[in-house]
This record gives sequence, C-alpha cells and structure tokens, in this order.
Amino acid sequence: MAEYTIGMDLGGTNLRAAAIDKSGRMLDKISGATNFAQGREAVLGDISAAISKLREKHGAAGLAGIGVGVPGFIRMQEGIITGSNNLPYLEGVPIREEINRRLGSAVILENDANAAALGEKWMGAGRDVEDLVLLTLGTGIGGGIIAGGRVLRGVVGMAGELGHITVVPNGNPCGCGNQGCLEKHASATAVTAMAQLMHLGEGLTAKDIGDLARTDSEKGEKARTIWRVMGEALGIALAMLINTFNFPLYLLSGGVLPSWEFFEPHMVRMARQRSYTFRATVNETRIAQATLGNEAGLYGAAYLPWAENASK
Ligand SMILES: [Zn+2]
Repeated sequence: MAEYTIGMDLGGTNLRAAAIDKSGRMLDKISGATNFAQGREAVLGDISAAISKLREKHGAAGLAGIGVGVPGFIRMQEGIITGSNNLPYLEGVPIREEINRRLGSAVILENDANAAALGEKWMGAGRDVEDLVLLTLGTGIGGGIIAGGRVLRGVVGMAGELGHITVVPNGNPCGCGNQGCLEKHASATAVTAMAQLMHLGEGLTAKDIGDLARTDSEKGEKARTIWRVMGEALGIALAMLINTFNFPLYLLSGGVLPSWEFFEPHMVRMARQRSYTFRATVNETRIAQATLGNEAGLYGAAYLPWAENASK
C-alpha cells in the first residue's frame, strides 16, 4: 500500500485537509467551516472529524503521519498554541494532546506560515534549494524560514515572525505593541488602508488597487505611489533578511502578488540599496513569487511527518 500523510491547514474561518502521498501527489482534499461561535470543543471536533474522514477513506495502514498548520505561535515542546489572534478559543489549549486523544494517533503542529514555507520547499518554488524564506502578504504578514531543508523554529517555535520586524521607525502602530512593523506597511491590509487614506474609494481590495494602478489617471498615479511605498518597505525587510541569511531564495505569496509589476522594481531597488550582500550575490540571490498559493500550507503540513522522520 502506498504511504501517505494527512495535512491540515487551520484558518480563522475555515479548515482544509488533504491526503498527500510521499511523492507529493494530492490524493484527496476536503474543506469546511470552523465553528468558532461554538467554542473550543466544536473546533477540536471539526479538526478530528476531517482527519478521521480522510483516514477512513484512505486507510489507517498506509497513514504515515498527520501534520496541522495553525495560525499562531506554538510552543513546540508542549504542543500548546499561544498568542493566536485568529483562534482565541484555542489559546493555551494543549491542542496536540487533545487531537491525539480524539484521534488515537499522534499529530505534529506547526505555525501556518512555517508550514507554507515547508510546502514551497517540498513541492513549490523552493524545491531546488535547501534554504529559503517565505513571506505571506495577506491580512498580516507571516514568515517562514527553511534552513538546511528544515523549518527554523527557534527556542520555543516562534522564529520567523517576519511580519513584525521594524521597517519604519515610529511607523504605524501594530497589535503586537511595536510601531512600524513590516505588516503595517506592506501587507494587503496596509495597502488597502493607504488607499482609503488617499480617497481612492471605499472597501477596495488589494486587487482593486492593482487594477487602478494600471489606469492612466490621477487615481492610477496614487495607486502606483501606494505600491511604491509598499515595495520600499518590503525591500528594507528583504535587505535585512539577505544580510542575515545569504540564502539563495526569498519567496513572496498572498493577495498582493497580482500587483508584482508595480511593487517589485521598488522592492528590488531598496533591497539593493540597503544590502551589500544582495549586490555582491545578485546572480545567486532570487526574490520570486511562490507557486503553490494557499495550497502551500496543506503541502507543508502533510510534509511535517516526513520531515520529522528524516531528522530522527
Ligand atoms: Zn507588529
């Protein structure tokens, strides 16, 4: 029987789970809503029900492991979620024990952006390298660092919180307590907030602001300014990352990618200006788009058991 693993991506409003074989072929995928209004028991129930469904369908015998990506910090040793804005019900819950108990088998937890980075390394834009950084630019900015093919976790699993590195001293205040965090200046949310301040329209999405930037108009000019400012903030962060890691690959994903053409030149210019390492390694350093989109987290979660076994 072919071996497979189950990966789950647990979001603020939905969960998705997939059975994926060792070669990276997706055998099956299911998705559903997470019942936050119903509280912790309901969410834990939804998680184990989705995993059980896939396990029953594809057989317990071939199941090599289960990985779950969660939006929040995870204390890896204890298997506890701490500091999750999206999953307040699960804060402080020994989630690994709870899922283990319900399923009768072990699960591996990982921060969702770390899982996405691992997914890109396994089956996406990073498959040819051992070292990469992924930035997910959405509502906030998540970060994942893969070093030597493995997730860089730090002492308790909180490494890679790249959305909260400072790119503007005394910049916009952030929920984390800092000011000028990358995610306050370069996330899709930051872009839409700038558009609102510049009176480009109500309720615009990052995609709308990209569409505006394509127009030859006063609003188009303003939209292009927003993407320049966003690209420069991103470039400052990338310069720091390149100086820190000297990795071959820095990947970007999320809702801002359709406007790549508008922010990329400014991002690269700023990264070059601020990083000698980047200028000296321009042929060996790539800043590129991730390729798995929101499937990255599923692939990465499913890869966790294989990565864990390989490190034993
Ligand atoms: Zn912050």
